[in-house]
Amino acid sequence: MKKYDFIVVGGGMSGICAAISAARNGVKTALVHNRPVLGGNASSEVKVSINGAGRVGNFRHAMESGVILEILLKNKKINVGHSFNILDHINWEFIKNESNIDLYLNTSMMSANVENDEIKSIKVFQVTTQKEFELAADLFCDTTGDANLAYEAGADYIIGHEARSTYNESLAPEEATKHTMGSTLLFTTRDLGKPVKFKRPEWAYEMTKEYIGRRCVHELSNGYWWCEVGGDDELSTTENAEEIRDELIKYAYGIFDYIKNSGDYPEAENLMLDWFGAVPGKRESRRIIGDYVLNQNDLEAHRRFSDTVAYGGWGMDDHTVGGIRAEFFKKANNKNEKGTIWHPVTDVYTIPYRSLYSRNIKNLYAGGRCLSVSHMALSSTRVIGTCSVIGQAIGTGAAIATKYKILPREVNEHMKELQQLLIKDDAYLPFIKTEDKEDLISNTACKITTSSYQENCGPEMVNSDFARRIYDDENAWISQQMAEDGEFIKVDFEQTTPIKEVVLRFDPDFNRTVATSIAETHRNRQVEEMPYQLIRDYKIEFFKDGEKVKELEVDDNYQRVNKHYVELDVDSIKITILKNYGDPYARICDLRVY
Ligand SMILES: Cc1cc2nc3c(=O)[nH]c(=O)nc-3n(C[C@H](O)[C@H](O)[C@H](O)COP(=O)(O)OP(=O)(O)OC[C@H]3O[C@@H](n4cnc5c(N)ncnc54)[C@H](O)[C@@H]3O)c2cc1C
Repeated sequence: MKKYDFIVVGGGMSGICAAISAARNGVKTALVHNRPVLGGNASSEVKVSINGAGRVGNFRHAMESGVILEILLKNKKINVGHSFNILDHINWEFIKNESNIDLYLNTSMMSANVENDEIKSIKVFQVTTQKEFELAADLFCDTTGDANLAYEAGADYIIGHEARSTYNESLAPEEATKHTMGSTLLFTTRDLGKPVKFKRPEWAYEMTKEYIGRRCVHELSNGYWWCEVGGDDELSTTENAEEIRDELIKYAYGIFDYIKNSGDYPEAENLMLDWFGAVPGKRESRRIIGDYVLNQNDLEAHRRFSDTVAYGGWGMDDHTVGGIRAEFFKKANNKNEKGTIWHPVTDVYTIPYRSLYSRNIKNLYAGGRCLSVSHMALSSTRVIGTCSVIGQAIGTGAAIATKYKILPREVNEHMKELQQLLIKDDAYLPFIKTEDKEDLISNTACKITTSSYQENCGPEMVNSDFARRIYDDENAWISQQMAEDGEFIKVDFEQTTPIKEVVLRFDPDFNRTVATSIAETHRNRQVEEMPYQLIRDYKIEFFKDGEKVKELEVDDNYQRVNKHYVELDVDSIKITILKNYGDPYARICDLRVY
């Protein structure tokens, strides 16, 4: 039996970020995923676009950084046509690049072997090889969406809406229910450039104007989140997943028939159905119970937890129980009835570490949409960007647990170390400042000068408490209009200093999505190439005794975080920004030297 430090089950974006974060911090990791491609709902099998703490169109500089941003920037650079298949392979490449990760695709976790409230091993079945085998680890992470590992291991979990009194949530129903949000099959269409007929298959439901009613058919190129089934009294999103898929096919074909043949959408004349999802995207099922259950009140108060390890900010987007089968869908004129109700979250809120591990299975983390949150909180935390930063927090927590040979709960004793490691790995933890004891700029005598700068964005801002814009504070060095030969920032150490690494963080515009999407409206909000502010070409010069001892040149950069490894004794380092993707100013959010 193969043994790991950490096994992640479920290779959606949350599981990917958990595995990568752990592996990069030295943890021997296995990623077990039951599908042929990585990404979960963000894969080519489902095609959901990655949103996060900023609502689309109102990002409030809240876009996630860390591993998810690294993946998305690479994707933005090379996947210009918004192909989800290419995104699948970028995810695959990111995992394959980590020597500390063994990837098991097409491999389903079947059961867990638990002793003394700890998972010792899991049984898995790999469908492509027809092999059943067992994998052991000290720590496990459930990012299956459905909390399948937690369920198999006997972890405490909840499903459905809590009663209002449970967490004193004003938006929760009076009585608890087993209701969840439903599942959806998306589709895309193609314009053939000539009229094309569509005949509704006999098995597809006939959709009437009454039924479609006020549903938002805002685009004909793809459809439709509100074609949603399950989570009501009849169909559970886990136990009836197969029936739900069949129902969704019948509804979605019916909707397309209405679009093609009702006469309400003459612009659909040339459209054919091009791609149709086979794996219903799920929104909600089981959630584990951890040491803390994040709830509506925390989100509304933008609560700042002392054990903050992640954050969210999407509104509470609480879909109507029953989805397309709900009675209101037949009452097209009832303007108060909607497919979802948005309850505002007016600023980012934080997510505590205590919500990321099981309260009774001692070595089990749970991320993505099966973490320890109430139904109301899940209606916000479930977006993929938030699931991803939760994954990064878990992977980094697992690194601390592995380092000290302790259990997830005991990592609470090392909270500051965990938070600072997350920040070092470019996670954003609202209100938690960088305290980097190893950084030579903040810990030795040196002077920073620049070719030019703007008010409040002077040289010292390149090594400040936060490495990104927060509200109106840029927290960056920003030059005046860029000169022909670039703009520079220079660090002069008082004494000759041995250095090993220079880390630069650039500005990817935290206010604008860069994710792949099937929706034109979503794509149209993006810049065509890379974010304007991001630095493309730059050079780093290293000096000793007035002589240049080394020069590094970087062309065509597309990442926010750039690490340069050197072994040098230096008196000064000069970084010259030569080109960005269109902004008139040079910007560096953060500069560290080790
Ligand atoms: C139609 C639709 C529209 C949505 N719109 C948005 C949106 O616009 N933006 C947004 O950010 N979010 C959106 N969401 C929500 C979001 O997609 C999910 O909440 C999110 O994907 C959850 O991420 P996850 O990593 O927890 O799980 P998933 O993405 O579901 O990934 C979990 C993976 O684990 C695998 N798995 C399950 N069981 C096992 C097992 N036993 N062994 C191995 N692997 C297993 C699953 O196959 C799955 O691929 C939408 C969801 C749907 C369905």
